[in-house]
Amino acid sequence: MPIETLKKGILFGMKQNLMIQYVFPNYELPKEYAEVIESIDNVKIYPMGCKPVTGMANDGETDVEVANAIPEKVEAKNLVLRLTFSEMLKQKDGIAKLFKSGARVNLCITDVEQFTDEQFEAYKQVLNEWNIVLLGLYKQGQSPQFNLLTDRMMLEKMHNCEAGVSNITLAPNGKFYLCPAFYYDERMQVFNQLNHHNPSSDNSVGDLERGLDIPNPQLLQLDHAPLCRNCDAYQCRRCIWLNRKLTWDNNTPSHQQCVMAHIERNASRDLLNDIRKVGEFMPNIDIKEIEYLDPFDVRKEF
Ligand code: SF4
Repeated sequence: MPIETLKKGILFGMKQNLMIQYVFPNYELPKEYAEVIESIDNVKIYPMGCKPVTGMANDGETDVEVANAIPEKVEAKNLVLRLTFSEMLKQKDGIAKLFKSGARVNLCITDVEQFTDEQFEAYKQVLNEWNIVLLGLYKQGQSPQFNLLTDRMMLEKMHNCEAGVSNITLAPNGKFYLCPAFYYDERMQVFNQLNHHNPSSDNSVGDLERGLDIPNPQLLQLDHAPLCRNCDAYQCRRCIWLNRKLTWDNNTPSHQQCVMAHIERNASRDLLNDIRKVGEFMPNIDIKEIEYLDPFDVRKEF
């Protein structure tokens, strides 16, 4: 991102009273960026082991490290681990070891769209195995945090990604996108167009000159999502990029996303019940037993 665009983006954020999150590349930025970056409170999201700018102190409390493989050591308090479903299954023991690292572990499965009904059992099984590890840590008085299993136990209402509602992405080209995935998707489509594969697309929702311009913004919100607003898989990301990709509608979820989120929800319920056998834990939280994995199957009851 040109430094002038960065400055304008920060000014825009200040005027709108937004919290700034920087997503860094996997190479070091020129030194002059450091002062501009630190001119406002921020959270830094950066590739594992990469110091964003020389001399800039990484803040272990709020920073987010992103890894595409299980790291030897986690420095930040927040780790985002990006793996495909099959990589996750193969590396389940390595992932379990991260639970005692003291970092919050966010596992992001990068090929949700490929998830099939034949993989339900494998997903349930791995979550059950991780539950045993997490339960052991809770019994030792630790409080491990793992997005797929411990988030739902703590939530009394939806806590989703909120892209386009409370988060907006400014890309290096000075345009706004609902989230970084829409920007990368557009870049891929332009690349394909250059190679005579696909027509071009413009996923942007405004720019720094014109401001934000989200068509029908209410359609991104929970109260306009008939399935999600009746759902209690509160930890679900409600990924609107996946929705757009798989259902062609930002606010209509895919079968894959709903089923995975419900398998996680049910495993969280098991973990919560097991922890409660040892002592009182989160008394306000009630995760009911349900018979379905996709709210679409029971939509007539809503
Ligand atoms: S599980 Fe499905 S219905 Fe529930 S919040 Fe997630 S996307 Fe929406």
